[in-house]
This record gives sequence, C-alpha cells and structure tokens, in this order.
Amino acid sequence: MLNKANQHWGDRVVDKILEDPVPENHTLRIATGITPSGQIHIGNLREVVTADVIYRILQERGKKAELIYIADDFDPLRKVYPFLDPQKYQPFVGRPLSEIPCPCDKHSNYAEHFLEPFLRSMDLLKIHLKIFRSSDLYKNGQYNEVIAQSLDARDKIAEILFRITGKEIDQYWSPFVPICESCGAMTQAKVISWIREEKIIKYSCGQCNHTGFMHIQGNGKLTWRIDWPARWSFLGVDIEPMGKDHGSKGGSYDTGKEIVNRVFKKTPPFPIIYEWIRLEGMGDMSSSKGNVIAIEDALKVVPPDILRYLIIKATPKQRITFEPVKQLLAVFDEVDNEQAKRRDQRAIDLSQASDFKPIGIPFDHLINVVQIAAGDPAEVKKILQRGGYKIADSSLGALEERCVFALNWLEHFAPQEARFSVAQGLPESVESFSPQQRKILGILSDILKNMLTKEIDVTAEEIHRAFYEAAKEDTELTVKDVFQAFYLALINKNSGPRAGWFIKTVGIDFVQKRLSQASGLEK
Ligand SMILES: [Zn+2]
Ligand SMILES: [Zn+2]
Repeated sequence: MLNKANQHWGDRVVDKILEDPVPENHTLRIATGITPSGQIHIGNLREVVTADVIYRILQERGKKAELIYIADDFDPLRKVYPFLDPQKYQPFVGRPLSEIPCPCDKHSNYAEHFLEPFLRSMDLLKIHLKIFRSSDLYKNGQYNEVIAQSLDARDKIAEILFRITGKEIDQYWSPFVPICESCGAMTQAKVISWIREEKIIKYSCGQCNHTGFMHIQGNGKLTWRIDWPARWSFLGVDIEPMGKDHGSKGGSYDTGKEIVNRVFKKTPPFPIIYEWIRLEGMGDMSSSKGNVIAIEDALKVVPPDILRYLIIKATPKQRITFEPVKQLLAVFDEVDNEQAKRRDQRAIDLSQASDFKPIGIPFDHLINVVQIAAGDPAEVKKILQRGGYKIADSSLGALEERCVFALNWLEHFAPQEARFSVAQGLPESVESFSPQQRKILGILSDILKNMLTKEIDVTAEEIHRAFYEAAKEDTELTVKDVFQAFYLALINKNSGPRAGWFIKTVGIDFVQKRLSQASGLEK
C-alpha cells in the first residue's frame, strides 16, 4: 500500500472522486473554461493541465472520462484593455466577444483571434478537449430551459446570492441579461417581465432607453453566478478545476452549489481549486494587466513535456512562480536528467506530450555551447563530444531540437549576462590592457600550454583553479582582474560563463593561443 502522503496529488484527488461509486456506463465529464478576452497565457494553462491530469488518471483506472472546454465567447468585452486600439474597440465595450471584430482582421471574431493559438497549443501539449462555445450553446437553444428555470426562480436565486455574498440585490436584478436589440449593449438592460409560455421577456435598455420584447434564445445570457451552475446542469459536469477566486468562501462555487441543488435539481461538480501562476517580479499573470506569457510563446522555449511538468509537479494549492532563468533551467534538468535530485517521476509520467527524449546534457551548458558554435548543430555535437558527452546517433534529432529551444531561450528569456559570442579575432578592447593584465594572461597561457602537453585529460575544475594560481603571481592584481581580462580577450565582455567549463568547451588549445596573442607574446 502506498503511503498517501507520498502519492502524487492527482492520484489522491482521483481516489477522492472515486469514493462515490460511478455508475457502470457513466462517462465522467471534466469541465474547463476560459474567457478568450485576451491572450490565453500560461497562468490559464493551470486550468486545463489540472483537468488533463485527472482525465489521464481516470483513464489509467479504466474509467470513462471526457474533457470539455467551454470558451466563454458570449461574455461581453469588459473594457478596452491596454493591448487594444482604443478607437477601434471603445464602441464594442459591453458587446459579446463573439460579435466583435478581431484585432488582426484574419479571424472570424475577437474571441477566435485568441482561441486559435490556444487550441493549437493544446494539440502540442496533448490535451484533447471537446470544445464548446457559449455563443453556440446560447444560440442553438441548449440554454433555453435553464434560462426559463432561472427566470422562474428569480426570487429564490436573489435570496441565495444575498445570503451568501451579502451583496444588496436591486429590485430590477435578473439572472438573465438581454442584449439590447437597438444599441447592442449587453450589460445595461433591465428585465421588466417574463412570459413563460412563449419564452419571451420584456426589457428596457439603460443605455439607449429602448423598450422591447425578445425571445430568450440567443438574445442574452445568464450572469456568471447563474451561468456556471446552469451549465453544470445541462452539460452534466462531474469534475471541474477552478481558480481560487471562484473557489473561495462566498465565491461563485459557493453560490453555484446551492443554485444547482435548489433551482436545477442537480449536484455540483467535484471542485479542484488551484492557485495562480505568477511571473517572477511581475505578480499574478493576468491578461488585463498585460504581464503574461502566451502559451504559444512559452512553447517556443520550453518543450511541451517540460511546461506540463512545471505545473503538474506542484500541488494545485501551491503557488507557481514562473521564473525563466534559474528555475526554468532547473526544471529542464529535472526532466532531462534521470539522476536529478528533485525529479518527480510520477509527474514526469503524467507530463508526456511529445516524444521527449532525455539527452543528458544540462540545458545551461547547451546554452553556452550553442553560442560558442554560433548555432551550428554539427559544431554543437563536436564541442559536446570534445567535452566528454556521448551522443548516440539516435539522439541527434533530439539534440538538434534542444538546440532550437536553447536559441529561443537566448532570444526570449536570457538576461544580458548569459549572452555572448566568441570573438572571431582579438577584440579591440585588448589594446588598452595594462602591462600587468598582459603579464597575467601570459602566465595563464603558459599554464594552459603545460596542460596541453599532459597525456591525461584535464578537468574543468583544474582549469578553473589555474586562474587562482595565476593571480598569485602578481600582488597588484586580484582574481577578479584575471577573470575580467580573460573574458575581455575571449568574448569582449567583463564576465561570462564559468571559466574552467567554458575553456573546456571552447577547447584549451584555442583559448591558449588567444591568451598568448592577448598577452602580446604572439602577434
Ligand atoms: Zn485575429
Ligand atoms: Zn440599448
């Protein structure tokens, strides 16, 4: 028997879900939903990845399961976000996203503009979603019955909302918000009366003062706190991950539970509440704040398996901070290196998405190597082999792919100090070296020359120690000065990758000649 505490969170959640017996032929429906009001980012990814973990484990256990995604494209545009052209979008505030033109003019509407790259990324992440668009569900009549039930139970719902949230409910408040047929606004109309037999409402618009009658089908929507339990009811949702805002006390899950029981006579889904993903130094990711990394962009730098692992390894209650330098490189190695300390094998198994093959080369090392090789994969292979890495022919493809990720990392995420290129000739800055600096580089060059004549292989540590030995030769220079002169001569920068490893990677003979030139001994 496995110790529960050591079990992966996904296994524990599924144990809990299956405590209630599942009827023989029932397919467990797991629902996810994101409003495509802006770039769908890696913060949003937690919703679908969490659901996918549960989906995969249910399948492992022989249960029938289905993963659905509801794009809330019938939600109104709340405001002109910072990434939108104010002139173009101001007139569309309050209108359904599915009825607003897209920012690039290439998609059928605003929502599709953001959905298209998201759905493409889902394929790469091997998350198979059955997709619903709320605009379709409203327009094709699937919502009709629950809208009618909600309008019938208007007072009961108002009582529930007031009691649980403590918010005063206006006498004109309605669970259903019509879209004014005159001005198109969704958020400003009041429902005056409800004619159940014909499924027609009478409303008056707060924006243009129009008063009219309309059929409920496709002409308006339920407000969020009713919409959610309504869709649990007619879509038969059994399990749903949700952000902590929805899952908090008095949040929409609290009110939804009671509404689904008392108004729609169904049971609420099993909730999985998750924490946000923060962007290091920039707070919780939010498309309205603009501090996001789109899933599509992240996948250029991080293979799908590793992006999944980053989320799957943490329990839903743990806050994840996306930090693209140290943390990301560490996560790369956890997945790539079977010996890595913090590696979580169960999380890796649940993260399978592509034919990700471990190649056993630390990603930070590869980042240095691709720069030394100026991006040429054949040269990368040579350098790696010189450094003692064994590269089987069968992993050449994986290595080439990894080089592309390394180059993309350099382009998108690398801090200035991680970028360098080995200068083809002696950099000009060498001309201003002091006599001491030249002397030190000469000493360093001699030590390296000595190493080259040795039969045995010199380690990176041994090379690194040579800098400290050289520094002892001159009391006027610090070790820091020695390193600085070295980096200037090689990459024309004051600092760079760890010297011993760097020299081993570039080649001792190459470095020795360069230092000898820089010292002025050789022209
Ligand atoms: Zn577009
Ligand atoms: Zn109006």
